[in-house]
Amino acid sequence: MNTQSTAPARSKLFRQITDRLGQSGKLVVLTGAGVSAESGIPTFRGDDGFWTMGSRNYRPEELATWSTFAADPELVWPWYLYRLGRCREALPNAGHHALVEMDKLLGDRFLLVTQNVDGLHRLAGSPDARTFHIHGDLERMRCGRDCTQRTWPVPDGLRTFQRGDSIEARDGEYLHCPDCGAVARPHVLWFDESYDETWFRFYSSMAAAKSADVLLIVGTSGATNLPTQMVALARQNGALIVELNLERSAFTAHAEDSGGGLLIGPAGDSLPALLDTLSAPPEAT
Ligand code: NAD
Ligand code: ZN
Repeated sequence: MNTQSTAPARSKLFRQITDRLGQSGKLVVLTGAGVSAESGIPTFRGDDGFWTMGSRNYRPEELATWSTFAADPELVWPWYLYRLGRCREALPNAGHHALVEMDKLLGDRFLLVTQNVDGLHRLAGSPDARTFHIHGDLERMRCGRDCTQRTWPVPDGLRTFQRGDSIEARDGEYLHCPDCGAVARPHVLWFDESYDETWFRFYSSMAAAKSADVLLIVGTSGATNLPTQMVALARQNGALIVELNLERSAFTAHAEDSGGGLLIGPAGDSLPALLDTLSAPPEAT
């Protein structure tokens, strides 16, 4: 078992990454909610793992569906607007910043694929062209009737929602499609919906996984579909897979089988340490 958490083991794992990348290899990074945990944004397993409306507690898996939204948009919107407010209070951490520096260092040999909808990679400075938001973006909304493929920013006039707030008449004007007047929806991928290329970069993400020399997986439990397919494809194509997490995940066995492994520790420590290794001049042989 290649589960590593000591400093010498960390150096060895990072050295494997630089060796595999060489002068022309491609690094694909897949991030999840864990990379934002140190910025104070809860994962779904933390405090925000449920949402109370009226006398009922809802789990994210119940709220984050098209069917719940279609039946009752005013139940679902407050949860998203509350989460948006929390994300807007948060700042990128050392992990997000290290990924921006890796992008600068490697240029088009680098790609970031994120499941996070919190906008912190963008705020840190990860360029849109090399950042795929495969689960959408809390800062944007789109037509609930799909009258257009465009998305638009959450309007400035919309107030910040606290836990327990409900949609009021004054909020309604901001929650409609400007093109057709239908109810607008959060621009996120829901549990009962499918990935696509237009909004969620499905094919581009799979192509990136296929071409990756190194796949670095950071802070995700491995419970969602496209990341699972990406990891399997990268593995089939012989990529080195390295995982940064606080604990084992559904991806750890793939990382170990690939010859890489899991480095246990907070992403805010591990990513800057990896950046240092990537930035260091190659050792004389
Ligand atoms: P998850 O909550 O299922 O798993 C989080 C993972 O991060 C766990 O494996 C945990 O061990 C690890 N982790 C926690 N703190 C860490 C740290 N400091 N350093 C390294 N690892 C750490 O999250 P997921 O796999 O991203 O899937 C959840 C789904 O919910 C996704 O679809 C995502 O879009 C959504 N979500 C997004 C956010 C966000 O945008 N920040 C927050 C919650 C949920
Ligand atoms: Zn519309």
